[in-house]
Amino acid sequence: MQVPFFDWSRLYTERSDKFREIMHETCMRGGFILQKDVVKFEENLRTFLGVKHAVALSDATNAILLGLRASGIRPGDEVILPSHGFVAAAQSIHHAGGVPILVEIGEDWMVDPAAMEKAITERTRFLMPVQVNGRTCDMDQIQAIAHRHNLIVIEDSAQALGAKYKGRPTGTIGQWGCYSFYPSKTLGCFGDGGALVTNDDEIARRVKLMRNHGANEDKVIEPDIAVWGTNSRLDNIHAAILNYKLGYYAETLDRRREIAKRYHDAFADLEEISRPPGPDSDSDRVDVFQNYELEADRRDELRSHLRATGIGTIVQWGGLGMHQMRGLGFSQELKRTDRFFERSLLLPMNHMLTDAEVNYIIDQVRQFYR
Ligand SMILES: *Cc1c(COP(=O)(O)O)cnc(C)c1O
Repeated sequence: MQVPFFDWSRLYTERSDKFREIMHETCMRGGFILQKDVVKFEENLRTFLGVKHAVALSDATNAILLGLRASGIRPGDEVILPSHGFVAAAQSIHHAGGVPILVEIGEDWMVDPAAMEKAITERTRFLMPVQVNGRTCDMDQIQAIAHRHNLIVIEDSAQALGAKYKGRPTGTIGQWGCYSFYPSKTLGCFGDGGALVTNDDEIARRVKLMRNHGANEDKVIEPDIAVWGTNSRLDNIHAAILNYKLGYYAETLDRRREIAKRYHDAFADLEEISRPPGPDSDSDRVDVFQNYELEADRRDELRSHLRATGIGTIVQWGGLGMHQMRGLGFSQELKRTDRFFERSLLLPMNHMLTDAEVNYIIDQVRQFYR
């Protein structure tokens, strides 16, 4: 059996008749830029999350960039985030004129709130938890730290649409949050896509202006350029696809959580593996399992064994925390994060995996250790 880490074409073959129909209908009416599907998607996303504003954008990287600008980031402002995150967040901070300050993960592999607090200086303005793998950071602690030091919490929730912390969707807890609709994300479109969500009217207004060259979208004929903007619009055809996929997103998440439960139970007796919390292990948290990331003894040998038996795996971010990435100018030591990347591994995880495939992966992992 062959189980690639991610079978991209399945994203289309999953429901190709329906997708073809949606794309055809959208193109036939010329619905390419900022048409009713984008408006509808923002409405659907708002409803799904119970948040006041959702702004559809070209991708999550730009959501972070525009979010920081809307939050009034000033040159040299420091933004504290975990090194175990996607470099996109640090890049957006850099391009917004800020300085990314990378910190350690804790025992739970999420950003360590204590490390965040220790990294605060008089230049710190923002704390940016990353809801990595679709899990949730300790938002109570992070918000308490922000409160104590008068800082703004913003969320990189690119991997965590639908995840919840004490009943609140991640992305809606801080001043604003972002999501990515990159194809392999939990809700993926057929290209790049993203959104920023917020309960703050002014942040939403600014981001909406900036995504469309600073122009108010109500005045198409005589655009009134109110601010410095850019082009960061979500393509309308992606919005049409996303509207349809959001309709069965609850099922998608159920399936991910079901697969996570199978992995969780199947590896319970393997002391060579440290598992992430199971899907039902903490009533305060709902994990959407963007990834199934675990720690494994003899990780590289396990990978080779799985590769030889047709199973694709990935070490997230190429096995490097952001602080280790060449050419970005980081110099600090983050030993716990380094140790994590020596053992971490992603098993295939998406809603399209069949039971037979999941069982095969489980059998092969068990065979390697037994
Ligand atoms: C995917 C991802 C992003 C960037 O999303 P894009 O839509 O590809 O720009 C940012 N942060 C994290 C944690 C991600 O996984």
